[in-house]
Amino acid sequence: LLLLAFLRNVFMPSTPLYCSLVALFAITGCTTIAPVATPVTVPSVEPKTIAKVTGATANGLAPTAAVPASSPAATGAPPTAPPAPAASTAPTRPFNDLIKDAKVTKGWFTTYQKDDKVWLEVLPEQFNQTFAMSMNITHGIGEKNLYGNLMGGYGAAGRGTRMIKFLKLNPGTVQVMAINDSVGPKDETPIGLAVQRAFSDSLVGNAVIASAPHPTRKSVLVELNSLFTSDIAHVSYQLEQAFRQSYALDARNSSIEKIRITDDQLTIATKLHFGLARLAVPTPGAPPGAPVPSIPSLLPDVRSLFMGVQYNIAKLPSVVMVPRAADARIGYFSTSQWDYSDASQRVPQVRHVNRWRLEKKDEAATLSEPKQPIVFWLDKNIPEKYRASITEGVLEWNKAFEKIGFKNAVVVKQQTTTDDFDTSDLRHASIRWLIGRDVPFGARGPSITDPRSGEILDADIEISDSQTRALTARYREDTPRPVASSADYAAAPRSFLSKSAHLADGHVCDYAHQKIDDMIFSLELLEARGEMVIGSPENDAFIAAGLKDLMAHEVGHTLGLRHNFRASTIYTEAQISDPAFTKANGLSGSVMDYNTINLGLPNQRQSEYFMSTLGPYDYWAIEYGYRPIAPAQEKEVLAKIAGRSAEPLLAYDTDEDAGFPGVDGVDPDINRGDLTNDPLAHYRKRVKLVRELWDKLQTRQLPAGTSYEQLRRNFDRGFANLNSIADLSAKYVGGVRLLRDYSGTGRLPITPVPVKQQREALNLIAENLFSESNFVFAPGFLNRLAIDYLNRESQIFSGGGGMISGVSLSLPERILAMQRTVLSRLTSDAVARRLSDAEALSATGAAPLSVSELYATLTNKIWSELDSGQAVSSTRRNLQREHLRWMVTLLKRDGAAVPGDARGAARSQAKTLLAKLDNAKRKAKSSTDQRAHFDDSADQLRAALNALAMRSPA
Ligand SMILES: [Zn+2]
Repeated sequence: LLLLAFLRNVFMPSTPLYCSLVALFAITGCTTIAPVATPVTVPSVEPKTIAKVTGATANGLAPTAAVPASSPAATGAPPTAPPAPAASTAPTRPFNDLIKDAKVTKGWFTTYQKDDKVWLEVLPEQFNQTFAMSMNITHGIGEKNLYGNLMGGYGAAGRGTRMIKFLKLNPGTVQVMAINDSVGPKDETPIGLAVQRAFSDSLVGNAVIASAPHPTRKSVLVELNSLFTSDIAHVSYQLEQAFRQSYALDARNSSIEKIRITDDQLTIATKLHFGLARLAVPTPGAPPGAPVPSIPSLLPDVRSLFMGVQYNIAKLPSVVMVPRAADARIGYFSTSQWDYSDASQRVPQVRHVNRWRLEKKDEAATLSEPKQPIVFWLDKNIPEKYRASITEGVLEWNKAFEKIGFKNAVVVKQQTTTDDFDTSDLRHASIRWLIGRDVPFGARGPSITDPRSGEILDADIEISDSQTRALTARYREDTPRPVASSADYAAAPRSFLSKSAHLADGHVCDYAHQKIDDMIFSLELLEARGEMVIGSPENDAFIAAGLKDLMAHEVGHTLGLRHNFRASTIYTEAQISDPAFTKANGLSGSVMDYNTINLGLPNQRQSEYFMSTLGPYDYWAIEYGYRPIAPAQEKEVLAKIAGRSAEPLLAYDTDEDAGFPGVDGVDPDINRGDLTNDPLAHYRKRVKLVRELWDKLQTRQLPAGTSYEQLRRNFDRGFANLNSIADLSAKYVGGVRLLRDYSGTGRLPITPVPVKQQREALNLIAENLFSESNFVFAPGFLNRLAIDYLNRESQIFSGGGGMISGVSLSLPERILAMQRTVLSRLTSDAVARRLSDAEALSATGAAPLSVSELYATLTNKIWSELDSGQAVSSTRRNLQREHLRWMVTLLKRDGAAVPGDARGAARSQAKTLLAKLDNAKRKAKSSTDQRAHFDDSADQLRAALNALAMRSPA
């Protein structure tokens, strides 16, 4: 998924990635071109590693899991400061005496290991230099975002990357300081002096200098154990957030597992022990929804667990890459700096696109290989059968780079079992496999950038094992994940963004999840049609094409690109139904959209299912970020490239435009999960596909001895589809088209959605989601929708993850849940306000859709039985009650809080409805339940209208 403004470095969950340090390629086998940043007195040697070293012992903690939550290790005022006071006097023990008989590992830095201690030799010139430090979670506990192979730290350490300096505090102590690198200038100018006093750096940790300086090199020895067997990555925060238990770091049972040093990177792999003195128990009588303590479900003993954290300290590029300005019309993640030196800037924030350093080997050639390609390593943990599809998805991007003169800009290499590097380091951009019971993303592509320039330094795409397993083994799930509606996003507190481990800095990528649900739905339907056999070569090809599509998307993030959720609107249904067209042009403007699978109706020609190639936007975006431009021409050329943004094929809008936590999506063309230039028609088609699958399920004869749970899953998959359609189609009503154009394009950037389209959307909703016609099933069908009992047993007794399956199936509840999604949006204050605003925004003078028309349409469609005289089913009574609940609530609200036209329109509808109910009561011969429903509804309306009249006489 995500996902993933990324202020500068990494973000952890789904940001793009980056990598392009000169030195990166020294390791990956490419040529090194730039001089190293720091003089090194120790000669470069082959990478060396040392074996496991046990951890710090000086903190006085008991050697068991019983760590009091209040211990310094648990709370850590500076997060990593050892409890012992810093030494203020110079150590006198001779350097060579201390390291006598120690195992030496040489490289950019040198380490010495003896017994359980590791010392780092820091040369005088290595102090006060800025280095990049990244941290990655290498080993986890398999649940709650605590997985192995995650890039980044947790919570306050969320971005996982720091720019650090070794500072000598006094003769006896060294500090590792994280530099506040997003503000400047920090010079001696008047404004620089002010900036220096305005912002703070952060302490990563400190350590005691263990010996007198080296007699000739004047270097000192710093003890690494206490520095890095600490909670720099903020794991304890993540544990507390996940389980509401006070896990604390137990340094005595933590250790440095491995040290690896190359000529430009120092890697320290740790195994950290977290313990719990006693389990917290839920407080009796806690209010519903209050967070309650829980326990990890996959540990032998819940009081003790180990996490692997790898720290990488590396040189920054000695020559800073020339930054490229970000432009709102093209979707790049950006690195921003607050530069106060220029008083003429309204906002002193400078944004640079995140991109790899890419320079032609032969500048004069039309087509040249880069001096250093962008290398993605396929981790040795990727199952072999998927490596080819993944490679294809990565290399697809070379087409865009070729257009701007680069040959083989992107390269894929395979890590082998004998390669001595970990893709969690800072020098190997990678794609790797990740396993957990409840991984909330299907794939993500975080990255790390140089804060000075936006240069991508490292990126690791993580693919959840559940992705491919779902397709090959049929996902063992009973309930599809709930679909978060754009209204949910809008209602979510902003803190939601920072809470989730797969969200950060506004970036989310759920593409893989969405794709998987969509792929399984499509596979089931194709199988039911008899067009595809599970396990057949066609099936394998389908999965491979889906994986390639997914990888192209994730790699796009790691090249710096954000989502483009308008891209899917550039082609017609006829175009994407033509496989020759889609092979050349794609299904959509960009692989960075969440394009749905292009599944034809039974009588339609089947075209390509997935994006098999880049779209027009992708070429354009890569040109903006990566086209080599002479500095003197840069501003002019970039303006020209970005100036094409009004070309229809280059349509772009991103996450926050589609709807996001705290931000309502208002443009019905900017969506996750649609296709074609007529999304409404696409939704109608999808409703038909859902109904087709359900029809086929009803007549399906399962072979004897087959579990019924497969029927149940597919039944619910249909509802997941309808939930998505409900949410997206409702965006038309009160919708506003937003374009990112700058002046001169001849288009208006803000336009209300035409009334005709809003009415069409209301019709679609009434016909397909409010009416019962799509929810009629053959007698006996629902009785066959049994669950997977073994899976349920796991969920209940052994923490199998996911929701616990209900045994019984409530069709009315499923229908009502979907209808609530759409009704809550249509009756929201925000929609009423936008409809009223549309009057002033109508550039043509055309009458907008009025609030009164919307509310009247809802009443007429939802209460249509009052006009037709037909009986009202229990399903329809549910919908009517939901509608009535909104109406009554609105009438009772303080008038000052209700949008202008909404209360008058609702009051008018309430009176009309009340009259119809009274009329129906007089003449209808209906069931007892229906009569009671009408009576109750009329009484509620009468009471609400009376109360309103008392407050504000009509
Ligand atoms: Zn994405």
